[in-house]
Amino acid sequence: MKFAIAMLKHETNTFSPVPTPLESLGPDGPLVGDAAYNYFKGTGSPIGAFIDMAEAMGADVHIPAAARTMPSGPVHQAAFDHVADLICDSLKEGYDALFLDLHGAMVAEDFEDGEGELLARIRAVAPDLPIAVGLDFHANMSEEMIRNCDVLVGYKTYPHMDMYEAGQRAGELLLEFMAGKIAPRMVVESCPILPNIVRMATDEAPMREIMTLAGELETGDVLSVSVFPGFPLADTSKTRLSVVAVENGNSGAAEDACRRILELAWRGRDDFSYESEPLEDSVRRAKKLTDGPVLLIDLADNCNSGGTLDTMTVIAEALKQGLDNVVAGPICDPQAVQQLIEAGVGAHITLPLGGKMDMPSIDQRGQPLVLSGTVKTISDGRFIVRGPVFTGMQVELGRTVVFDTGAMEILLSEDRIEPLDLAMFRFVGIEPLAKSYIILKSKIQYRPTFGAMAKHIIECDSDGVAGLNFERLPFKNLARPIYPLDQDASFKWTNR
Ligand SMILES: [Zn+2]
Repeated sequence: MKFAIAMLKHETNTFSPVPTPLESLGPDGPLVGDAAYNYFKGTGSPIGAFIDMAEAMGADVHIPAAARTMPSGPVHQAAFDHVADLICDSLKEGYDALFLDLHGAMVAEDFEDGEGELLARIRAVAPDLPIAVGLDFHANMSEEMIRNCDVLVGYKTYPHMDMYEAGQRAGELLLEFMAGKIAPRMVVESCPILPNIVRMATDEAPMREIMTLAGELETGDVLSVSVFPGFPLADTSKTRLSVVAVENGNSGAAEDACRRILELAWRGRDDFSYESEPLEDSVRRAKKLTDGPVLLIDLADNCNSGGTLDTMTVIAEALKQGLDNVVAGPICDPQAVQQLIEAGVGAHITLPLGGKMDMPSIDQRGQPLVLSGTVKTISDGRFIVRGPVFTGMQVELGRTVVFDTGAMEILLSEDRIEPLDLAMFRFVGIEPLAKSYIILKSKIQYRPTFGAMAKHIIECDSDGVAGLNFERLPFKNLARPIYPLDQDASFKWTNR
């Protein structure tokens, strides 16, 4: 057997000013061949699962492209075309199957349905090739996507703890299909809800009940049920809550599974909305707490949903209200990093921090915060994730500096990476658990790591293109009406 395995993974925040050129997919563009194999083999990702499965079968593996980058604005068309060409051209060599690790909420400059376009191009050059797709939980699904592959399976958890298992399940189903054991048929259905990202955690209502039902429905001929609450910051006509059911045969069980999930979601639609309290009130609540660490979660500037990772609103408010023994970061500010490295460890310096990026989509200029402090440490920004999520992954933050204002240590970096692991502070000599307050730009992904160690968690509203207040975002492309933006949105299941 000869298998092609590929990855093109991007969660596009169409409001984000952070560009997504070819270079963002890696210093030399996407990883190819052995370089991709060595990087992803053994990782807890769908592509890691595909590699393991192929090897267990003794199949030859070729990786024409493996590209991913942090969420940011629409993928530059040239970057999208380049990766699509690498994959499509390689298929001319003739493979027995293709396994794809995709996101599902990728928008390219010319195509709002990035994955649908990619899969359509692949189908056009390889009409009979068996294709399995592993997708992120935040996918905005389309008909185009399921029409151009054979099996598609999404993650079932958020924070994402089962990325490997989703890839494994997609791969297993494809192999069963190739062996003639099953005849998979896929159905995608949706309802007009725009869920808030912080209401998507799968261990809380409303997703917990929905995922429980999805699990119960995976029985008999229903081979897989993937629920996709979607990625609301990708302003596209397909952005909404959807379900993909894979059925063996044609009894209608897939449609029934979709209906039951969508009806449950629609009944609980109010639970997908989020209302934030004013930032001053959140910080005031934090200040009253006497046992730490207290997490202050800066929701709106989470780079893992397209934030610039450089807004200073929460840090400014924390300093203004006199919080002490605080660590914050990372803040992406290559300019400040350069300036502080030139000043050197031990130097006392006053400079504008953060706020370097304007956010035209929400009509906001970058607002740096002028602070005085000491350069505490300088590093190359490389560390290994200790887990339990992304365990073993090498992270490169670019050059980093710890800037100490006395009350607060701020980790500044050249690149944008979500604070996904305690190692992110420990590698520069800061013990986060010894701090009274930890300011993190995150939404939910911090929970298994920092969240599990914290005494209190306070969500903070702030500025940023990853904001949760949908009224402040200028949506243009959503299919309307949609709940909760339009209170007159309605949903009634109709059999096709
Ligand atoms: Zn996701």
